[in-house]
Amino acid sequence: MIVAGLDQDYRGKPFEPIPQLLAVAEYITKTLAICVVCGNPADRTQRTSSSHERVVVGAKEGYEARCRKCFEPPKD
Ligand SMILES: [Zn+2]
Repeated sequence: MIVAGLDQDYRGKPFEPIPQLLAVAEYITKTLAICVVCGNPADRTQRTSSSHERVVVGAKEGYEARCRKCFEPPKD
């Protein structure tokens, strides 16, 4: 079985159910994007809108790939 998904939400917190699947998976391949700020490997998703809903469907208009250094957690 192959599963793909985000492991963190827009706050950088574990995004269920992927963390639970990571714990029981035999093999894990993390594929990283490129940080839009600095060009380093990006493992975070920066929401560019002001919504505080946990799930907001969107793509380039609502999210940016960011590395740990450039990611700015939202102030909830
Ligand atoms: Zn960066």
